[in-house]
Amino acid sequence: VIFLQSLPKAELHAHLNGSIPIKTILELAQQYPHSSAQTTEVADTIEKLKSGVILNEIFDFFSLMPAIYALTSTPEAVAIVTRAVLQSFLNPTGDGAESPQCTYLELRTTPRSTTHMTREKYLTIVLDEIEMYPADQAALIVSVDRRMSDSDVEECISLAIEMKNRGRRVVGIDVCGDPRSGDMQTFTQHLSRAKGAGLGLTVHIAESTKNTTEDSLALLSCRPDRLGHATFLSDELKAFKSADYKPCMEICLSSNLLCKTVASLDAHHIRYYLKNDHPIVICTDDALPFRTSCLGEYSLLLAQPPLGLGLSRDDVARVARMGMDAAFLRPRD
Ligand code: 5GP
Repeated sequence: VIFLQSLPKAELHAHLNGSIPIKTILELAQQYPHSSAQTTEVADTIEKLKSGVILNEIFDFFSLMPAIYALTSTPEAVAIVTRAVLQSFLNPTGDGAESPQCTYLELRTTPRSTTHMTREKYLTIVLDEIEMYPADQAALIVSVDRRMSDSDVEECISLAIEMKNRGRRVVGIDVCGDPRSGDMQTFTQHLSRAKGAGLGLTVHIAESTKNTTEDSLALLSCRPDRLGHATFLSDELKAFKSADYKPCMEICLSSNLLCKTVASLDAHHIRYYLKNDHPIVICTDDALPFRTSCLGEYSLLLAQPPLGLGLSRDDVARVARMGMDAAFLRPRD
């Protein structure tokens, strides 16, 4: 643990609403108005999160989100959860007494408009919390959801660009959400605009067998800087990389195992990328349902098979270095 704690590490794939500490969820649930129609759904979801979520397939993950969103729909709640997530990664005991989980965090979230706030307000609240930390510790990636309409995607990208231009700490765009939905061809013009404005680009890609080759090709046509999961990239698609294009792979081991998108650590595509000396970064994805942490994910690299990948300390240090190098806001370490 001391070795892993001492490594400079970048967490580059963590979804805000999937990373809320369970303690914070319980506190928000206590304040939640019990007369609401969503009360049962919230209670059921909390029970699952407390006792350990069992997912039969990746799509089950998305059914957890409405209850979490019901608890984070006010400006106050968004500020509370953002603060708690930042603290869990960067300052676990709240007083700097315990080593942070990671040296640098690029937190991502989908701007949400609710009856209580606009998307702009949502992003402002999240950024206010992020910017309480130094620039070499925390930054924001704005996610667009595959289920969004064209005009919603456009609004989110415009907001991200405007905020970046105003000097706010927005460093990239992510495409996330249910892999079965959305036509990625229609997203590309917006993603290219974001890249043109100087934002980094990362996309969830080939995450499920339901993602078609056309879907992946549309996303790859924007030349993302990083690729999330990329579990089911065919050999044909793996050939996309070239001497001048080597996007970093965001690897989320626990997430893939629990969502059953990979059968075992031994069968995980991380082995392919390690063998081919392709850049990767180790990430948590959604620490709340997957009950993990940065240190937990790095422990999986070090532990002997079948519990882990059995990498040497030198290799783990090399992996951590690759992650730092893949940050959109090049952090110092
Ligand atoms: P938020 O963007 O609201 O802060 O974080 C939760 C959202 O992130 C989910 O509603 C979902 O759209 C997205 N998300 C979280 N984990 C995953 C994942 O493993 N795959 C995909 N495609 N999207 C995810």
